[in-house]
Amino acid sequence: MTPTCFDAIVVGAGQAGPSLAGRLAAAGRKVAIVERKLFGGTCVNTGCTPTKTLVASAYVAHKARTAQAYGINVAGPVTADMKALKARKDAVLMKSRNNIETWLRGMENCAVFTGHARFESPTEMRIGEDLITAPEIFLNVGGRAKVPEMPGVHEVPFLTNVSLLDLDELPRHLIVVGGSYVGIEFAQAFRRFGSEVTIVEMGPRLVQREDEDVSASVKEILEKEGIRIRLNAECITLAKKGQKIVVHVNCAHDASPSLGSHVLLAVGRRPNTDDLGLDKACVAIDKHGYIQVDDQLRTTAPGIWALGDCNGKGAFTHTAYNDFEIVAANLLDYETRRVTDRIPCYALYMDPPLARVGLNEREVRASGKPALIGTRPMTKVARATEKGETDGFMKVLVNAETKQILGASILGTSGDEAIHCILDTMYARAPYTTITHAMHIHPTVSELIPTVFEDMKPLS
Ligand SMILES: Cc1cc2nc3c(=O)[nH]c(=O)nc-3n(C[C@H](O)[C@H](O)[C@H](O)COP(=O)(O)OP(=O)(O)OC[C@H]3O[C@@H](n4cnc5c(N)ncnc54)[C@H](O)[C@@H]3O)c2cc1C
Repeated sequence: MTPTCFDAIVVGAGQAGPSLAGRLAAAGRKVAIVERKLFGGTCVNTGCTPTKTLVASAYVAHKARTAQAYGINVAGPVTADMKALKARKDAVLMKSRNNIETWLRGMENCAVFTGHARFESPTEMRIGEDLITAPEIFLNVGGRAKVPEMPGVHEVPFLTNVSLLDLDELPRHLIVVGGSYVGIEFAQAFRRFGSEVTIVEMGPRLVQREDEDVSASVKEILEKEGIRIRLNAECITLAKKGQKIVVHVNCAHDASPSLGSHVLLAVGRRPNTDDLGLDKACVAIDKHGYIQVDDQLRTTAPGIWALGDCNGKGAFTHTAYNDFEIVAANLLDYETRRVTDRIPCYALYMDPPLARVGLNEREVRASGKPALIGTRPMTKVARATEKGETDGFMKVLVNAETKQILGASILGTSGDEAIHCILDTMYARAPYTTITHAMHIHPTVSELIPTVFEDMKPLS
């Protein structure tokens, strides 16, 4: 069979692929883009968009329940209409999915293939009956939920981020295995919808990559809403008991197992690289299955790049999109952009959100850099007290000698937006005094960021 020739093949219509296809096609390249399932990938269909839509519904429920404290009367008990809630979520994500698919199908110089793509050789890919070839291939295949081999896991009907989002009934008791980003967002949302919720975490604290004070504050906020948290679950086993699912946290003897109606596994992600035929293209992967790439996202095979979650260099939509920007700049704009130029940043969308940039306190201490630290509780932020949302705190870290900002954590209302003034100052490589000399708008959360920098003391 003679393959159909293209200048470039893009595999995966997630967060990097469509934009890259657009840039390549606009530059006159004949492009093929292949998607095996849902246009928009994880973020649009089973990740960011649907979860943040649920988080928004959960916030409304929470505000309605606490309305009296604001002098507002809401009659009757607050309940979640799961069917309506799901319909709203689906409407929001369908708009994004359809926009991406329509854009790609209408794109000049771009052919859309639907199906699973596999390498036949370093320049050829098969999608069902179709064989296509190109000298340049861009892999944007993303990842999926990891299913850990814990005892009993295949004997119970567990949920992942995909299947939980499909529920249109309220779980009576949701047990969330995994106390990190995905697990916490779902846990708080479903608690606010009215489920009993238990988080089971193997480690000694939630969000373990963060500082201990952040983990402690996150735990306190969740417990205040009635979420049960079981840490140090050194050995998790699952079993069925009638209609219920039993989760033991201690294999030897667990006197008080958690008994749930539903179990969500939120213990990490794995890359979609096991069924791509990478061996036929001489593309190397690491021991976790991530495609090995250099600083400009070139794989070990000439003419093949890997972008987004599948390269292990990031696990966010903004890192996937930044991968597209790096590849496009290097190939089409003759600029030199690199992965190592970017500053780590992300947010956990519990309420209040946790926003992070750069190094945290533990990492600064480990670096041995002379540093200054500033903190401020959200109780001392006017906007937060006016909104009645005073949980959390801000923390900033600065190099004592160069005055460069090393990193920040903001756990607090609007923290996910406010942190960008710190992030942009870091990108500008400007000293923290740029922020302390700037006049910020009152009353905002950002307005207090200069004050946190002004109140710093040496990190002892
Ligand atoms: C519950 C949840 C919430 C999240 N929330 C956030 C958030 O708030 N903010 C944030 O920044 N990130 C969030 N993320 C992470 C974010 O969704 C991912 O980092 C992002 O989607 C990665 O984009 P990607 O393009 O690398 O991969 P994906 O979006 O996964 O896209 C990969 C695409 O490739 C396709 N594909 C795979 N293999 C093949 C093949 N062989 N042939 C053809 N097509 C193939 C897939 O079908 C998919 O459409 C969340 C993730 C989850 C699970």
